[in-house]
Amino acid sequence: MSNEKEPFVREIRINPVVPQESVLVSTERGQRPKRAEAPAPRDNRSHVESCPFCSGNEDRTPPAIFTYPENGPWEIRIVENLYPVLGDDRNHPNLSLGLQQIIDGYGRHEVVIDHNQHGVGISDMSTVHVANLFAAFRQRTEDLFAADPRLRYVLIFKNFGPAAGASIAHTHSQLVAMPVVPENVHAELVSSRDYFGKHYRCIFCTLIDEALSFETTIYDRASGEVRRRIDVGQYVVERGEHFIAIKPFASRFEWEVHILPLNHEADFLALRADSMADLASVLQRTLARLDQVLGGAQYNFFVHTLPHDPMYADCRASYHWHIEICPRTEIPSGFELGSGLFVNTVSPEEAAQRLRDVNLDDIPGNS
Ligand SMILES: [Zn+2]
Ligand SMILES: [Zn+2]
Ligand SMILES: [Zn+2]
Repeated sequence: MSNEKEPFVREIRINPVVPQESVLVSTERGQRPKRAEAPAPRDNRSHVESCPFCSGNEDRTPPAIFTYPENGPWEIRIVENLYPVLGDDRNHPNLSLGLQQIIDGYGRHEVVIDHNQHGVGISDMSTVHVANLFAAFRQRTEDLFAADPRLRYVLIFKNFGPAAGASIAHTHSQLVAMPVVPENVHAELVSSRDYFGKHYRCIFCTLIDEALSFETTIYDRASGEVRRRIDVGQYVVERGEHFIAIKPFASRFEWEVHILPLNHEADFLALRADSMADLASVLQRTLARLDQVLGGAQYNFFVHTLPHDPMYADCRASYHWHIEICPRTEIPSGFELGSGLFVNTVSPEEAAQRLRDVNLDDIPGNS
């Protein structure tokens, strides 16, 4: 890389999947003074006596709904959230009060205790463990849908670190089962269905192809055999056998990265056991890169997938499930809340480059 100063980027980028959503990439703003106090650091301890999620304190949570393995000391444990965002059916009809409408806040909210060690990050777990975690997400989602036909969507997400809104430091994820489809998932579904109607192609598959079109293959001159393949895809951060991690061109957050299956698949529930380990490894390597660049990433991630709703049955060919990882480095300001325009102060091209430049071999525990 040259030492010459890169020219500032100042442009509004349209999210190709949801064109109503746009991002202001303004790298000059990245030069402004930062808040004096850094966010509270992540809690890296392995066991905390007072933590309700640490092993030995199982009586301090509601009883387990799911444990892995079923017998013996648990590695993954799912319990009901004591402070649910959605809960039991109140049995009051949906109401309209003038322009104000009320829909019953019915649903399920569960906590997935990701690991029996307190502050362990996903990139520090074994790949087998992370694969089991995704198997647990899938199993529990299937069980929730089977138990209640009114549920339309199960949002799987993780808040990691105080800057990402995690109220308990013990590593955990959450499942919120809802009777409605989240508005941003709906927007992706409708918009990608429109794209399919015009181009007969999934927009996410098209984005993956565009990202990969920068891949270079070096052939041996004499034999003509492939000597080396270099992924120079400008937006590709990681690539596995079945999954890819991409820096979106219109990233809302400085270090936002999305993970998608390389082959078209609309539904997270179709995730097969034999590609689970590849997903785990791509996610871990991506988070290890983020950890390295950010000095211990604090982030939210969530899964966007085909809803359990006949209204979207025709989206199977046009929608493509994915994970969005949104590391938290800035707090949205009044400008962002008021305009709906996200401000990103690091150009996605530079961010992708810095993430790719991380040498994972130098990180202990990574092979
Ligand atoms: Zn703990
Ligand atoms: Zn696709
Ligand atoms: Zn999405």
